[in-house]
Amino acid sequence: MGAGQSVDLTRDQAHYLFAVMRLGPGARVALFNGQAGEWTAEVAVAGKRGGRLAVLGQSAPQLDPPDLWLIFAPIKKARTDFIVEKAAEMGAARILPVQTAFTNAERIRQDRLQAHAVEAAEQCGGTFVPPVDALQRLDKLLDAWPEDRQIMFADEALSGARESLGAATGGKWAILIGPEGGFSDAERTRLHAMPRAHPVSLGPRILRADTAAVAALTLWQSTLGD
Ligand code: SAM
Repeated sequence: MGAGQSVDLTRDQAHYLFAVMRLGPGARVALFNGQAGEWTAEVAVAGKRGGRLAVLGQSAPQLDPPDLWLIFAPIKKARTDFIVEKAAEMGAARILPVQTAFTNAERIRQDRLQAHAVEAAEQCGGTFVPPVDALQRLDKLLDAWPEDRQIMFADEALSGARESLGAATGGKWAILIGPEGGFSDAERTRLHAMPRAHPVSLGPRILRADTAAVAALTLWQSTLGD
């Protein structure tokens, strides 16, 4: 991205800018590609099926979020969309859908979820768009778990014990939310045995997985976020 560069618009972007927002040639818009901060651009060509923007100059630097992954088991379509949208809004740096022992979802629409992450970043004025990974198995992900990444996993079975993040410090993190059926005994045993694992309760109520994702992101951001 640079001043003087022109950017071609897709049909959807042109529809949004020219039909929904009713902008025309000469209008100023904010532009970001998730990697180079925010830029101001001017509408140069406004068409029904496309258009072109002329980049004028940078308006804000790139602000990358903390190195925080959100790992979750996909549920119903609308609720999975919600989780991705809220994770992007709340500053997750990477979103990883996983299949666990009790996950029903066999596949996800990765492109659709990625589009939700872009929309969420646009909505909250962020300049970073978290990548949404392909669906993978939780056990395989844990097999290759990086030594330097801490994992906070939310488990309703701890609600009596109220374990918390305690004296945890920043760095590389992941939050893991279980599926509607919860974690299996084998998964729990494995997660508790991980060297850099932090099991947490989100309170005495059993939350829906999408609610739990937002609650866990809030807990992490308020305790360890910048
Ligand atoms: N199947 C479980 C049951 O009925 O007991 C409930 C699973 S809950 C709907 C889905 C996920 O949300 C859980 O695996 C956990 O990660 C998270 N979760 C929900 N409520 C929680 C709580 N009170 N504390 C910690 N995690 C919670």
